[in-house]
Amino acid sequence: MRDSHFERFRPICPSCRSTGTVSPIHVAHVERRVDDDVIDGSLMCGTCRT
Ligand SMILES: [Zn+2]
Repeated sequence: MRDSHFERFRPICPSCRSTGTVSPIHVAHVERRVDDDVIDGSLMCGTCRT
């Protein structure tokens, strides 16, 4: 996913959402990147660390 798309969509954590909390998800680790496109990586919630 491109960085600009991620910033525009601003995904929230589904785990926190199930408890009524809105927590943003951020890119925790980038394994492989091509220009502004993250090919492989991982996401993490800043609140519950899922
Ligand atoms: Zn969460």
